Amino acid sequence: TVRVRFAPSPTGYVHIGSLRTALYNYLFARRNNGKYIIRIEDTDRTRYVEGSIENLLSSMEWAKIIHDEGPMLEDGKVVVKGEYGPYTQSERLGIYKEHIEKLLESGHAYYCFCSKERLDKIREEQKEKGEMLGYDGHCRSIPLDEAKKRVQNGEPHVIRLKLPKDREIIFHDLVRGTVTMNTKDSDDQVLIKSDGFPTYHFAVVVDDYLMGITHMVRGEEWLPSTPKQIILYEAFGWELPKFAHLPNILNKEKKKLSKRQGDVAVEDFRKKGYLPEALVNYIALVGWSPEDNKEIMTMDEMIERFSFDRVSKSGGVFDVDKLNWVSAHYIKEADIDRLTELCIPYLVEANMIAEDEVESKYEWVKMIVETAKERISYLSEISEYAKQFFIQKVILENNDVKEMLKLEHVPSLLNTFKDKIMDAEVIDAVFGKKVFKMIQKETGIKGKNLYMPIRAALTGQLHGPDIDKVIAILGRENIIKRIEYVKE
Ligand code: GLU
Repeated sequence: TVRVRFAPSPTGYVHIGSLRTALYNYLFARRNNGKYIIRIEDTDRTRYVEGSIENLLSSMEWAKIIHDEGPMLEDGKVVVKGEYGPYTQSERLGIYKEHIEKLLESGHAYYCFCSKERLDKIREEQKEKGEMLGYDGHCRSIPLDEAKKRVQNGEPHVIRLKLPKDREIIFHDLVRGTVTMNTKDSDDQVLIKSDGFPTYHFAVVVDDYLMGITHMVRGEEWLPSTPKQIILYEAFGWELPKFAHLPNILNKEKKKLSKRQGDVAVEDFRKKGYLPEALVNYIALVGWSPEDNKEIMTMDEMIERFSFDRVSKSGGVFDVDKLNWVSAHYIKEADIDRLTELCIPYLVEANMIAEDEVESKYEWVKMIVETAKERISYLSEISEYAKQFFIQKVILENNDVKEMLKLEHVPSLLNTFKDKIMDAEVIDAVFGKKVFKMIQKETGIKGKNLYMPIRAALTGQLHGPDIDKVIAILGRENIIKRIEYVKE
C-alpha cells in the first residue's frame, strides 16, 4: 500500500510551498487508499524555532490536510499516533546509531577527523581554483580499527558516506521522467555530525525505509540530494522508493517565491481572511491541473482527480489575482454565520464594534457581511467595506450622483422618505422593501427615479448593495442624518 510523508523541519512559519507539498502527499495517499504521515525533521538543532510544530499542526488542521500518523493536535496538545514512531527525528538517535554501525562495518561509511581549519582551508583553495569539489576524501582510507581507537580516545569526528566515484545514477521520477545524475557532482556527505546527530541525508533514508515510505514526494530543491540518498539505499541493500519532485512556486517575475516579497506563510493568508478551502484549492492549481481542467474543486474532487502525470515539470506561478478570484468564489458560497463569526474580529480590530457589543450587534454585523460577501476577496477587506456604514458624512462619488440629487422631484422625495423613516416602528430589511411601495403609492414616483436618489443620498453612489439591506444596516438615526446632510 501507498505510504507517503510530509517531512518538515521546525524552523518557523509554514511556507505556502510546504502547504502544497503536504497537500499533494495527502491527495496522492487518499487517491490510492494509502497512508499519509507527518515526520518532524529536527536534527539541525541550530535552526529549531520554538512553537513551530504546534504552528505547523494547527495550520494543517485549519487547511484540513489531515494525516494518519505522526504528531497531532488534540485539544491544543501534541499527541502522537501511528505504529512507526517516534515520528520526530531527535527521538530516533538510537536508531541512527544502530544503522550507521552497519555502514561503517560494510565499508560504506567512514570516520573523518578533519578539523574545521583543514576543511576551511580546502574550501579556500578550491574557491581560488574555481572548482568547488567539496571534501577531498582525506580520511577515506583510515583503517576502521585505527579510526575506532581514535574515537575511543575522544578525538572529535564526523561520519561520512563513502560515495562511489563517477557513477551514473539513473532513476525515474513521477513528475520529471527519467533523471540522470553523476556522483562526481557530489562529495562524501556527512552522515553523522560531531554532536552525534544525523544529517538530513542519513536520517531521511533510514526513516523513510523504516516507516515503509513508498513514494518520496517533495520539492525540487531536493533533487540534487537524490543520488546520495539512492547510494545509501544501495549500501543498506534496501529497495528504492518511488520519487516525485514538485516544481517550485514562482512569483510573477519567475523567481522563487520568498518571504521578502510579501505573504508566503500560511499564517499570513489565514490572517488576511482567506478561507482554508479557498487557499487549498488555489495552491493545488499552482503546478497541477486536472484532466478536465476544473478549477473550483472540493477536497474530494481533487482527490478523485489527482495524479503526478498532471503535475508540471516547470515552476508554477503564484498569482494573487487568481487566488483572490478563487477566494471570492468561496466567500460567496460560504455559510453566512460562519462568515460573520470570522469577520467580527476584523471589525473589532478596526474599532467598528466593541468587544462587549459582539453579541448584541451580531445580527447587524451579519447584515453587513451579507452585503459584503458578494464584493470582497478575503475577509479582512470587511473593515474597509464596512466604512460606508460608519461615516458621518456621505461622500458623493462623482458628478452623476450630484446631478441625480439635483433633479427636481428629489427634495420632496427625500422628505417623504424621511417621514416614513421617522414614523416606522422598526427599520429592518422588510421595511426597507416596503417603504418604496408606500412612497410609490403616495407620490407616483417609481423605478429609477425612486430608487436612485435615495441610494445616492444614503451611500453617495449609484450602485451598490441591495438598498433594503442598506436601510436596515444604517438604521433610523444614520438615515436621517444622511438625508439632512445631502439636503444642505
Ligand atoms: N526536512 C526536509 C524539508 O524541510 C524534507 C525533505 C524531504 O522531503 O526529503 O523540506
